[in-house]
Amino acid sequence: MGTLVQFTIAGSDEDTALQAIHAAADEMQRIEDTFTIYGTQDNTVKAFNASAPGEVVALPAEVDSLLRVSIQVAQQSGGAFTPAIGELSLLWGFSLPEPPVSPPSDADIAAARSGVNIKQLEHTGAGWRRLSPQTRLDFGAIAKGYAIDRGIAVLREHGISHAILDAGGDLRAIGDHAGKPWRIGLRHPRKAGVTLGWFEVKGDISIVTSGDYERFFVYQGKRYQHILDPQSGRPAAQSRSATVITTGNTTLADAWSTALFVRGAKALSLIESRGMQALQVDAEGNIHMTKLSLASFHPAGEN
Ligand code: ADP
Ligand code: MG
Repeated sequence: MGTLVQFTIAGSDEDTALQAIHAAADEMQRIEDTFTIYGTQDNTVKAFNASAPGEVVALPAEVDSLLRVSIQVAQQSGGAFTPAIGELSLLWGFSLPEPPVSPPSDADIAAARSGVNIKQLEHTGAGWRRLSPQTRLDFGAIAKGYAIDRGIAVLREHGISHAILDAGGDLRAIGDHAGKPWRIGLRHPRKAGVTLGWFEVKGDISIVTSGDYERFFVYQGKRYQHILDPQSGRPAAQSRSATVITTGNTTLADAWSTALFVRGAKALSLIESRGMQALQVDAEGNIHMTKLSLASFHPAGEN
């Protein structure tokens, strides 16, 4: 997933914690290998993406079920998040070993964009088929959240009940820290090492941020970042960062943080109506938020 994963464990002895961490890390690596569309190792997602249009490909239950969740969020978010974005992701190439230095041509963007449509994904009794050669899957905006959820499940199987599993700012926290809430910083989207504030959380809370500051390039004075607006086929321009907070479902928080990033502050009420909470930093640096009761937020500068 191109990111460092950090485990924080409380209320457990070191041997138990280390065993749990190793098992959870293995599980997260397995998920990356299962869902990635990059690298040279085969998986069923790549096989689907390479299949002939109309050909039915059987997907393992785990891939089938994350695809169904992804399609649901695509429908609910009006296509701001979509798993059908693979062709466009590969064209822009932000996750390729050689990151891009200039944008693709308008014609290439238009061609790739024509495949970004979940209606071109069809389930049949035996599996799934894509109806257009431009329709390819990309789980890049949801698989990390799913890996975090599976990582937490494995930690719990090993008897851990107080932990933070943080994959590059996307995290799930369970339990507490010796009876005190966990404190989680929120990164300033323009100033490295500076926080916008911090969250205090207890219980089981997922906090996921999609930001424009980790994968981007500047071409002729313009900034191009890796979260794409399926409508324009170009980097989404409404946000610098988008954070979604839910109770114990990092998978959904991940997908919705991408949708919020793409749609901007006008998606806040939609997210709230689905029982989640959120905070968005818009393109000018202004902060917009729903009420934040799942995790109390303390803006930097306040104590
Ligand atoms: P982060 O990389 O910060 O975790 P996201 O969770 O938003 O950010 O995931 C971004 C990745 O998801 C991109 O690198 C790309 O693979 C894919 N992606 C880009 N735009 C979209 C989109 N609108 N819907 C779904 N996936 C997307
Ligand atoms: Mg995401």
